[in-house]
Amino acid sequence: MDRADRDAPEQPRAPRPRGTVRVGRIADSDVLVSGSWFLVAGLIAVVLAPRIEQVQPGLGAGKYVAGLAFAVLLYLSVLLHEASHAVAARHYGYRVTSITLHFLGGMTAVETEARRPRDELVIAVVGPLTSIAVGIGAVGLWFVTPDGLLRMAVEALAGANILVGVLNLVPGLPLDGGRVMKAGVWRLTGDPLRGAIAAGWSGRVVAVLSLGWPLLLAAVLDTQPRLLDFVLAGVVAAFLWTGASAVIANARLRQRLPRLAARPLARRVALVPADVSVAEAVRRAQEQEAGGIVTVAPDGSPVGIVSEAALARMPVDRRPWAAVSTVARTLEAGLRLPVDVAGEELIDALRRRPAAEYLLVGADGAPYGVLTAGDLDQALRADDR
Ligand SMILES: [Zn+2]
Repeated sequence: MDRADRDAPEQPRAPRPRGTVRVGRIADSDVLVSGSWFLVAGLIAVVLAPRIEQVQPGLGAGKYVAGLAFAVLLYLSVLLHEASHAVAARHYGYRVTSITLHFLGGMTAVETEARRPRDELVIAVVGPLTSIAVGIGAVGLWFVTPDGLLRMAVEALAGANILVGVLNLVPGLPLDGGRVMKAGVWRLTGDPLRGAIAAGWSGRVVAVLSLGWPLLLAAVLDTQPRLLDFVLAGVVAAFLWTGASAVIANARLRQRLPRLAARPLARRVALVPADVSVAEAVRRAQEQEAGGIVTVAPDGSPVGIVSEAALARMPVDRRPWAAVSTVARTLEAGLRLPVDVAGEELIDALRRRPAAEYLLVGADGAPYGVLTAGDLDQALRADDR
């Protein structure tokens, strides 16, 4: 897509994901806060309350308010990190769909993949660099802040941001450092998918290693490892493993896409009038050795496509009495695909209008065959070997 297209004003705004609240806009995109965040903000307030009581006794319930203020401050710095990704993406002409703050930090969704390794590198690296800069700034501030709650906040801000910045530079997807690694491999090999797979595998290694983090921490501090640390490490490891695996699966799929085409997967189609019985339609399909049934209007134009699932659900003894149109789905625009559709375009078409069966039509609009999602899925898997 070219730039003018992307910036077209009639572009619909991305739908807001369930369970999120919109709090504002940055770099032309919505800033969302997920429901899980509120839970964690509450948790932070409860966990911090005794420490706040220590630093500033006598606040009463106010210590929870102070704890919440801490949580908000902390996530404002996460927002700065995400905003830097968004601004960099915008700078290179990518449309940012949304910035979401959730319990493990934040996420910036960009509409399309980076087109150049340099874009990928810069968009990824500005996030951790921003966090580290905020952390260093907070360290500077710490020296001039008087003892008390404010100093405690500045201290937490410094520690959290330096930690977030440094950990995010670890080279494994889905971390920012993983995207830096992907950009590097992409630059070296000229292949973004290879970059993604390498950084995805690295991410899986990081996920496994992160499980050992509590042991390392205990060894360094010379204490017993705590159960809570193992739970936290488990959550982080699962998050990293899932993200890395999704990246690898997606890259593998895209590697196979150029070889994927609709035409060779087309099943022979039987055209039957919409008012014949299901039994008769099935008989004709068998007679013609067809793998799909399309219903046609009296003028011969296709109107519906028989759903294999609906057909299978209909008891055999009812089939002579029910019209085939009762097991057919109306052929809307998204269910007719040109027979020569292939690769990414094919996948995009299926994503836009998910269905089990599609009608493939020739250049003249005449029915060519039926494409089933099952056949397509199998073709993708068969290529795996
Ligand atoms: Zn980031």
